[in-house]
Amino acid sequence: MNDLWTIEDSNNLYQIEGWGHPYFAINELGNITVSPQGNDYKIDLFELVKNLQKRDIQLPLLIRFSDILADRLQRLHSCIEDAIARYDYNNVYRGVYPIKCNQHRQLVEALVEYGKPYHFGLEVGSKPELMIALATLEVDETGETLLICNGYKDEDYLETALLAQQVGHNLIIVIEQINELYIILELSKKFNLKPQLGVRAKLQTKGSGHWGDSTGEKAKFGLTIPEIVAVVNRLEKTDQLECLQLLHFHIGSQISSIAVIKDAIREASQIYVQLVTMGAGMKYLDVGGGLAVDYDGSKTNFYASKNYNMQNYANDIVAAVKDACDEKNIPHPILVSESGRAIASHHSVLIFNVVNSNNPPQELPIIGEEKEHLVIRNLWETYENIDEENYQEMYHDAVQFKDEAISLFNFGYLTLKERAKAEQIYWGCCRKIYEITQKESYVSDDLNDLADLMISTYYVNLSVFQSAPDAWAIDQLFPVLPIHRLNEKPNKKAILADLTCDSDGKIDKFIDLLDVKKSLELHSLETNKNDENIDNLIPESNDFKPYYLGMFLVGAYQEIMGNLHNLFGDINVVHIECKKDAYQIKYVVKGDTVTEVLKYVEYSAEDLTEKLRCLTENALAKNQIDLDNSQRLIKNYEENLRSYTYLI
Ligand SMILES: *Cc1c(COP(=O)(O)O)cnc(C)c1O
Repeated sequence: MNDLWTIEDSNNLYQIEGWGHPYFAINELGNITVSPQGNDYKIDLFELVKNLQKRDIQLPLLIRFSDILADRLQRLHSCIEDAIARYDYNNVYRGVYPIKCNQHRQLVEALVEYGKPYHFGLEVGSKPELMIALATLEVDETGETLLICNGYKDEDYLETALLAQQVGHNLIIVIEQINELYIILELSKKFNLKPQLGVRAKLQTKGSGHWGDSTGEKAKFGLTIPEIVAVVNRLEKTDQLECLQLLHFHIGSQISSIAVIKDAIREASQIYVQLVTMGAGMKYLDVGGGLAVDYDGSKTNFYASKNYNMQNYANDIVAAVKDACDEKNIPHPILVSESGRAIASHHSVLIFNVVNSNNPPQELPIIGEEKEHLVIRNLWETYENIDEENYQEMYHDAVQFKDEAISLFNFGYLTLKERAKAEQIYWGCCRKIYEITQKESYVSDDLNDLADLMISTYYVNLSVFQSAPDAWAIDQLFPVLPIHRLNEKPNKKAILADLTCDSDGKIDKFIDLLDVKKSLELHSLETNKNDENIDNLIPESNDFKPYYLGMFLVGAYQEIMGNLHNLFGDINVVHIECKKDAYQIKYVVKGDTVTEVLKYVEYSAEDLTEKLRCLTENALAKNQIDLDNSQRLIKNYEENLRSYTYLI
């Protein structure tokens, strides 16, 4: 243990302040703390996880802090309200939560509850989401809480939405495709009601980052300007132009650059002003989502970050809309936004344990009495001669001798034991050279590969496909770090490999200031026997002390995009709620059992068990197994079916 390492060093290394403030920090014990209300009350996350395990809630585990959700909601509102006051904006903000970001019931219900004082509504993009919203959002007698209907819509969707306008929801149907208008007009005639409509505009403003294609002519959603004009003409002809009340745009998620947001809002404000001038019944300007999350804490326009804060975002929107309206003497619209990521990300933390590690071998071989093969002697000599002056040359020698050893082996001139020795000495050379390069200010490119060789693999009890799908699908970066031992110097560099039998099931990109790191600093695993070196090829025992990692800011999109690769199912979820200075477990949603995931792929646990029973009976009849063991096998099988899909 390094006495010089402090929690401040860990804070800098993992950028906790940057991405985690005011919710996540480190305490004197070296454990991560969570401050769900963003104030002085802090929960020790490591202690919390141990307490949950005592309640038989196993890892991997998702912890949702609903107070963080409430705090995000409150922050967003206070930023926009501040901007409204500062710029003398003459209307209000009525936000909605886009359900697609995370549809889980407990979360949507909590948001609806916390959102009541703000008349905070919901946004849906499909029929199932509409079903959730219609029943979950409470009818607000003031009519100020919005239910915004986006996405592709068929007649069923539109009919349900139109009729629901009559039960008290302030529901607005946003036309995304021109054909939706025709269906709406027919249905409203049929039911003799006036629809409340919006249009989604395809802006010219170029988005940026992964979702940059959400705007422009080729965008999947929205109407072009000629189409919007056609909608206006059509509504005018049928004397329903006052039904068109909302202009919507969405330039993509995680917009890292404030310049892009400014461009979009400028363009949209002008479209809004024009629609009013043309006689539409405009009341709302809906700026969509895109408000970004600073995953790496760098506060830059790097894709994993953002170069603005929530207040800048609010100011720029309010100021631009006001300017455009004032110029044409038009009343300020009610501002609507659909922030998902910025509201939901922070509140969920994924906790998982390391089950094992694979480190670059450290042992050197024992060189025997008898004369070793020339190539082994050459490698050994290289190893012994490495110093500060010649390490570069020695590295090339070592590589050459190792390649030679493999060639010799392939032609039958070296035994397996000899090849093992050659490789071990080669590793020893690499390690010795690597240690020298660590002290140098400059190392040449070919030696950079050496650093990659020194990276360990930590095996984690997790499926990246289930719990962090964006990490493999679109290389999204999330902060990952140990939730304890942060007062100890991490002495390993590692990538994380998950439980799936898929080479993509790994995390090998980590946040760094303005860059991406290829490995994460972690601590050596400790065994319960103190004196042993676990870096030996075969450690003395497999009895590791728990080592827990947290992946943070995973509350948006990760849960619902997860899949059943290798049949690793949904993980355990716990909701924590704070009451003054204490926390309580509000809900536990147990993860999938093996039986449940098998059902998704059409297997019945009963049939499977019956088949296994037949198998054991046949084996019994042939005397291949005794009765006790056959029953033990069946019992095991049944227990496995009832158990969690992860390692326990
Ligand atoms: C996905 C989506 C959002 C949410 O975007 P975030 O960047 O998560 O805030 C909002 N509106 C629409 C139409 C969307 O498709």
